[in-house]
Amino acid sequence: MIDLRSDTVTQPTPEMRQAMVNAPVGDDVLGDDPTVSALEAYVAELLGKEAAVYMPSGTMTNQVALRSHTQPGDEIVLEAEAHIYYYEGGGPAALSGVSCRLLPGEGGVFSAAAVKGALRPRDPHFPRTQLVCIENTHNRSGGRIFPLETIQSIAKVCQEQDLRLHMDGARFWNACAATGISEADYARPFDTVSVCFSKGLGAPVGSALVGSAAQMQVARRFRKMFGGGMRQAGMIAAGALYALEHQRDRLVEDHENAQQLAQGLQGIKGVVIDPAAVETNIVNFEVPDDSAEAVVKELAQDGVALLASGPCTIRAVTNLMVTRQQIDLAVEAIAQTMRR
Ligand SMILES: *Cc1c(COP(=O)(O)O)cnc(C)c1O
Repeated sequence: MIDLRSDTVTQPTPEMRQAMVNAPVGDDVLGDDPTVSALEAYVAELLGKEAAVYMPSGTMTNQVALRSHTQPGDEIVLEAEAHIYYYEGGGPAALSGVSCRLLPGEGGVFSAAAVKGALRPRDPHFPRTQLVCIENTHNRSGGRIFPLETIQSIAKVCQEQDLRLHMDGARFWNACAATGISEADYARPFDTVSVCFSKGLGAPVGSALVGSAAQMQVARRFRKMFGGGMRQAGMIAAGALYALEHQRDRLVEDHENAQQLAQGLQGIKGVVIDPAAVETNIVNFEVPDDSAEAVVKELAQDGVALLASGPCTIRAVTNLMVTRQQIDLAVEAIAQTMRR
């Protein structure tokens, strides 16, 4: 099976499994797990922040970030199709009691002027605007990159208006690999960043929230409250640490493969695709007549797994399990299916 459904479908390599088996562990809720501590220190250093907190999922890191930046009744500002709003089960309302002010995005990107336009006057009539969230890369728009200059101008508005700034960086590593901007430079404008180890990096479990030592102390309390305090978590943190050290540099291969796939799809009759919109490892394309489900089903029988993301839209995500040669095979299979 050539599995292009997501970059979360990867299997740990034998070397990664070995690192996990051999990891020294302890009770991390008591602060005793050396592997978790090493992972947190490494991630914090990489992003140029004081501290990090390891958590079971990207959803939890985002929701803990929201809870630790806001009070019930506050409002947060984010893009209309942001993962935090779109795919996290209504978490902002349920877990933090905040309302979401949605900004229209262009490939997930919005401007500093749009943020300014969404701000509430400081007046008892209005919710208190408290936090702005940026998603980099942006999932629903197909892995689009949020430009650093735009982030910097948004951060300036946040500073002037005393707002916090959070990055949902589930695919932050992809944004860094694609732009060549260092993790620390990209993370500098943010109060908190959430990063994921179980997507492109290929670890089995986990994400981390990164920020100041004081902010991470608050986050650690909410992680416990949300049920994310883990005991001998070094077993899984070792996989994340291994992935960071050994599987980060290769993300550019996933981007090359995604571009190869996009170029290949461009030649297929009936497929609508814009290769210029493929900036990282996600390829969204369209098929005619609400046939996405049917096309995906048929391709699965031919050994190519994709996801229908709408009636006419299909998503393919390159990942470390998929080789360049398999990309060519996938293009061939899609071409054959479209001919039928
Ligand atoms: C996958 C993803 C998440 C959530 O990660 P989980 O570990 O699946 O909870 C958050 N944000 C974005 C942009 C994602 O793509």
